[in-house]
Amino acid sequence: MALTDAPHLAARRLADLSDRAMRSARTGEANAAAGDGIDVVAPATDERIGSVPACDAAAVDAAVDRSRTAQTAWEETPVAERTAVVDRFGDLVLGHREELLDVLQVETGKSRRTAVEELFDVPTGCSFLANEAEAVLGPERRRAAVPGATTATVTYDPVGVVGVISPWNYPLTLSMADALPALVAGNAVVLKPDEKTPYGALALEELLEVAGLPDGVFQVVTGEGPTVGPALIDRVDYVAFTGSTETGRVVAERAGRNLIDCSLELGSNNPLVVLGDADVDETARGAVQACFSNAGQLCLAAERIYVVDSAYDAFLEAFVRETERLSLGTGYDYDADLGSLIDADQLDRVESRVDEAREAGATLLTGGSHRPDIGPFCYEPTVLTDVDPDSTLAREETFGPVVSVTPVPDADAAVAAANDSPYGLNASVWTSDRARGAAIAREIDCGTVNVNDGFLATWGATDAPMGGFGDSGLGRRHGPEGIRRFVEPRTVGVSRVGPLAFPDRIPTEWFVRGAFAAISLGRKASRGARRLKKRIGLQR
Ligand code: NAD
Repeated sequence: MALTDAPHLAARRLADLSDRAMRSARTGEANAAAGDGIDVVAPATDERIGSVPACDAAAVDAAVDRSRTAQTAWEETPVAERTAVVDRFGDLVLGHREELLDVLQVETGKSRRTAVEELFDVPTGCSFLANEAEAVLGPERRRAAVPGATTATVTYDPVGVVGVISPWNYPLTLSMADALPALVAGNAVVLKPDEKTPYGALALEELLEVAGLPDGVFQVVTGEGPTVGPALIDRVDYVAFTGSTETGRVVAERAGRNLIDCSLELGSNNPLVVLGDADVDETARGAVQACFSNAGQLCLAAERIYVVDSAYDAFLEAFVRETERLSLGTGYDYDADLGSLIDADQLDRVESRVDEAREAGATLLTGGSHRPDIGPFCYEPTVLTDVDPDSTLAREETFGPVVSVTPVPDADAAVAAANDSPYGLNASVWTSDRARGAAIAREIDCGTVNVNDGFLATWGATDAPMGGFGDSGLGRRHGPEGIRRFVEPRTVGVSRVGPLAFPDRIPTEWFVRGAFAAISLGRKASRGARRLKKRIGLQR
């Protein structure tokens, strides 16, 4: 996956994108200077592929000022026109897919299969917004304070400028899953991509411009997280963060001090539950995808598998067999299942977790080796059993191609083990009884739980909210919830009868007695209506 071998990426392209980042860093009245550049490295070869500006706080200020100016006109643009821009952007992403796939692969080291999954997610999100945003953002009549005498209408105004801070593992998807709904809601967006993967974001900034997004409404500011992140949080009106739980706490603290709202999509060590009646071969194939997609560098990936005793031996055999079928590679073709890890730190983290677990008695069934013959940071898909439930591997997120498999006596024990974690992002349940699977899914404390699928059944349902319980974060992306986080609801109440105060012409005591009677009557009437609705099946 050397840059020069990329089949659809012209030699000068990354340099042009670096120039774009440099221009953005210098825009605005302050004409802020970017600091020294940050080298970007291709993980598959460890070669330097370019450099982008290390923006400072002044550059962030200038970018946010520019966005603030651009946002006022964007907010006045009808929602239908805003979604039309996003819809055109979806087409452009599809049209430029081969080049974007090359950019993604070269800066992340992921396999082309994983890159395709990531890329297709962007137009899918655009379609959801094109179909639903107008309905979600339109004015809504709500129940009146005094029915007949007053009305209550809610309108949704954009919060203003949204800061999006995204990670390196899915640089296109995880930037756009926040930026696009924010834009459609009438906000301007300043995106800070991870310093390791800025080029995908810069390529998308260009396509948004081509799609017709006015100048300044979406900007990418490159730089180091601890410099650009806090500067951005201090200037924007909302922050949508995706990254580690550790950084998420820092972001939340700063957002709290500024009294701005935030969504935090954080880490997890997700459980996968195999019930006794599961089809072991199909489950093993699905589990391999659930655990090793993007070489396990996926926030939704399963890291802990719990198998009910009666299925344990057969599942384990099938799972190890399927894992051993996976291929590692760093080519631009579709041959490899897994690509490289992102860098040396990530490789160290994976290796040390596996070594620690083995020293504490874990059994290695397959994998467990660094593969520098394939790429400097490649690591084999690894399956462990007998992992100490209190070990770091069992309790913390590894974020690599490593999974532990543990037998449990029954479904209740599997649910208890799955829930024994401070995290709660994603889980899956595998069974031939789908109804029972769905019932068990509702007992697992995670924001998304899939039955007979690893994560796509929920992540791909773009109309449904996605996010974490506990240490996995706050707020939700996708669905109406993913759009509404970027607006300020304003309720307008109109009285047809003048001010709702104690009337002058009736003695107060009479009025209070009448008001109590009306309230009691109203409560009785609504209770009766509720019961009736339940009886005729209109309400559960
Ligand atoms: P990270 O927290 O180190 O970095 C994420 C982003 O935060 C980067 O852009 C980084 O530059 C920025 N950042 C760093 N320090 C900052 C600071 N002080 N203030 C503001 N921003 C700062 O995370 P990472 O290691 O790059 O990403 C991997 C983590 O992300 C994993 O834990 C993974 O589970 C999580 N993740 C979660 C989801 C989800 O949807 N829940 C999705 C993908 C990744």
